[in-house]
Amino acid sequence: MKMRWPAVILAVFHLWCLSAGVYSSPDGRQVSCRTLPGESCEVPAWKENAEYLVLHFFAEEAGMLELNLNSGGGAFHERFPYSPGEQFKILPLRNFRRTGTPSWEKLKAVGMTPAEGKKILMIGSFFAVDQRIPFPGLLLVSRVNEITPVGTAYPLYGIVSSDVYPKQLLREKDALQRHLNTLTGIALPQKENAEHSFNMILLGKEAALKQNALSGKELEKQGFNGFTIAVKCSNLVIAGESIQGTAYGVYRFLETQGMKFFAPGVHSAVGKTNLLNVVRAADRPFFNGKRAPGRWCVYGDESGFALADPRNAGIDAVFPGDRTQWIDHTSAFLVPKKYYYDEHPEFYCLRADGTRMPKDTQDVRVMLCQSNPDGIRAAAERALRWIRKNPQHLLYVIQQGDDSERCVCEGCEAKRKLGWNETDLFLNWVNGIAERVGREFPRKYLLSYAYISTQPAPEHLKPAANVHLLYAPWPNRLSAPNGFRDFDAPENIVAGSQLADWLEVSDPEQLGIYDYPAGNSLTHRGMALRLKWLARRNMRGSIWYCGTNRIFASMFTYVQARLCWNPLLDTRALESEFIEGYYGNAAETVKKIVASVYDRLDSDPLNNGRVPSEAFFTESFVKTLIADFAAARKLSPERVRRELLHDEYGILENGLHACSKNPASAAGAAIWKRYLEIATANPHTDWRKICDSLWTLAKIRCEVEKNGKMPSLIAEMIRNPQQAIREHRQTVFVEKRPNGVRISPYAFEGGMAPVFYHWKCPGRLAVAVRGTMTEQYRMKAVFPLELLAPSELVFEGQSCDKLFVPPVPIRITINGKTVFEGGNGCRKHGWTLRRIRIPEGVLRPGDNTLVFENLAKSDSRVSHWFMIAGAEIRRVEE
Ligand SMILES: [Zn+2]
Repeated sequence: MKMRWPAVILAVFHLWCLSAGVYSSPDGRQVSCRTLPGESCEVPAWKENAEYLVLHFFAEEAGMLELNLNSGGGAFHERFPYSPGEQFKILPLRNFRRTGTPSWEKLKAVGMTPAEGKKILMIGSFFAVDQRIPFPGLLLVSRVNEITPVGTAYPLYGIVSSDVYPKQLLREKDALQRHLNTLTGIALPQKENAEHSFNMILLGKEAALKQNALSGKELEKQGFNGFTIAVKCSNLVIAGESIQGTAYGVYRFLETQGMKFFAPGVHSAVGKTNLLNVVRAADRPFFNGKRAPGRWCVYGDESGFALADPRNAGIDAVFPGDRTQWIDHTSAFLVPKKYYYDEHPEFYCLRADGTRMPKDTQDVRVMLCQSNPDGIRAAAERALRWIRKNPQHLLYVIQQGDDSERCVCEGCEAKRKLGWNETDLFLNWVNGIAERVGREFPRKYLLSYAYISTQPAPEHLKPAANVHLLYAPWPNRLSAPNGFRDFDAPENIVAGSQLADWLEVSDPEQLGIYDYPAGNSLTHRGMALRLKWLARRNMRGSIWYCGTNRIFASMFTYVQARLCWNPLLDTRALESEFIEGYYGNAAETVKKIVASVYDRLDSDPLNNGRVPSEAFFTESFVKTLIADFAAARKLSPERVRRELLHDEYGILENGLHACSKNPASAAGAAIWKRYLEIATANPHTDWRKICDSLWTLAKIRCEVEKNGKMPSLIAEMIRNPQQAIREHRQTVFVEKRPNGVRISPYAFEGGMAPVFYHWKCPGRLAVAVRGTMTEQYRMKAVFPLELLAPSELVFEGQSCDKLFVPPVPIRITINGKTVFEGGNGCRKHGWTLRRIRIPEGVLRPGDNTLVFENLAKSDSRVSHWFMIAGAEIRRVEE
């Protein structure tokens, strides 16, 4: 046979084969072999009951092998394709074609012919009763089965990974190597460059492209977060377009080998084996952009990888922003005041009172004019410089400041006169940047928010194709007050209808949400429902979780991260899977706790918000919960005991909120007792915070005498909670003064709950009423009077902070008689002292009722309010 191999192949071949007759494997072993065609093959010894013939060889090119086995009475024939590299081929004896009457026991000659011009190095052959292959190293196996007529096993000798990992993610660079070692007991060497072309694991984009194992197009097809797992030329390839995609590929591969992760370092039990099963897969998450934060091993979106951080943009010699610049609200970063404010004040918001946004405005509050073309161009130019310098990311936030001011310059007002709403104006700005960025970076996404004044869908514009628009059901208690339900829940009608409007005007692939399932909220299943709600509408943009859920935090991450990949997964099944994998012997008890909390939340229509209702925390529920947590901690692995205590504490804190109106009830007292016990057992407890909670949630004054020392009242509350709460709870919020009475904000019912309000003004404890289209338009307080005398009503009031909203009209009545009606006369961003003379005959001895009503016809949850820092009834000297 004439040999016509190109010289290149000969050169490569010599790396692999020291000389005829010896195969040199990538791990340095020298194995004797026979070169085909040319040399004759050894006849394998027959093995009783054998069902397979296994051939072990190396080929430097793919080809088709002809196999003819002669025995006295006839011959067996087989023909099969092979890949380049070292491999075992597992051939079921029953599949061989026969001529004559051949016999396996009496083989005389083995004829093996590679395709013309191809060459293989035959290392060995043997009969086998099953598909097991005696080999000390790692084998990547695809077994004979109903659809695989010829089995293959590739030895794997090393890992090649050439991708660059950022410093904080270096631990992931050799994650596959470490986990394979755990799984198989074999430590594969890992190198940055391939010294061998075959029988390696090619990890990541660079290695896959260099070896031509995958094309750039194939990788691109799965997107930034997707991956491909394939077997190419005896190499196992695991690669994504980004290292994040590659990481998901690694964990998917490990999962298919029986090693499933529940949290970093926590995985399913593995039995050591040197066999890996061939997997071919290509996948990508359902949501294309930002997803549930978490480590890659549970399919979380490792923070700071997909999403660019303007604070690390590296495009300024000295960062032009202040400490309030965060990862989102990038307006101040895009148009830094330091560069532009003096020469171009018109780039910044002209406020409704005619003043320009001050230069010393905190970066997080910077609002830009959204119609000035030069301002938009300046922002776009910086956005482009940011992306050019940091092209490794997928997502870049383009967002106004965290404020509700709006620009009323001529340009912006002209747009409003055309019927543009605030969202149109916002999109005018966002799209102006997005179009310029898209020309240069068509595969990057910009994140912008439908947030407060931009929550309603636009009337005239729509988001540019490279914008992920995140609707913020903000704050959770307002446009979507029910955090336990999706946007079909009747309580969430504002968010539900606004999202429906967005779907009318925007490609759903670009839409997502910016939600608030943080802190001790029990919104774990509620968020799952919301993801599924979005998925049913094909809203595949980004999901931003503001803050992290702290109760069953690891389960939250696991379930959310998985659902962000595949929202069709069953939430309950994911919970069970996690609990079984994570809590060891305590799994059944933890399941009981989770069901007792979340199943009841699901079925209790009284629950309306982020905190369950008071009725949810029955005495028996509280007692069982506390006992179950104690049992779970006893049974659980050491590593989760503190976590379980933390979870119990968080759920009890929900109970404190729920029972805040009746903290001395049997359930309320039991919750306080256990809550304080946990706090007492923790040497790091901040007693000042506990005292704050005692006041806010039980109206009990408790002072910290010495930092770090438990106040004596706490011990009393633990000993006899019900009695201590009854004794120390303050219930009267009207204070007698020498010249009248002082009515604290706590005395008012019906309006917004009292808050310490200090936004753009000196801080005061205050209470407010919203517009008439809300349920909080009216608040009332009852105060007693002993003596009747000419008096006045005195209070410090404040108009809603939004400059574009005129002060609302109010009505004040005492005992049903109007003492004032009209414009509230109070300033914005500060307090105005108002004194109103009370007409004779209005006050009476005994209980009197003071009512503040907001008369503005508004449904706004963020504007049109009127606020007072309490009130006084003062006698006036005649
Ligand atoms: Zn403007």
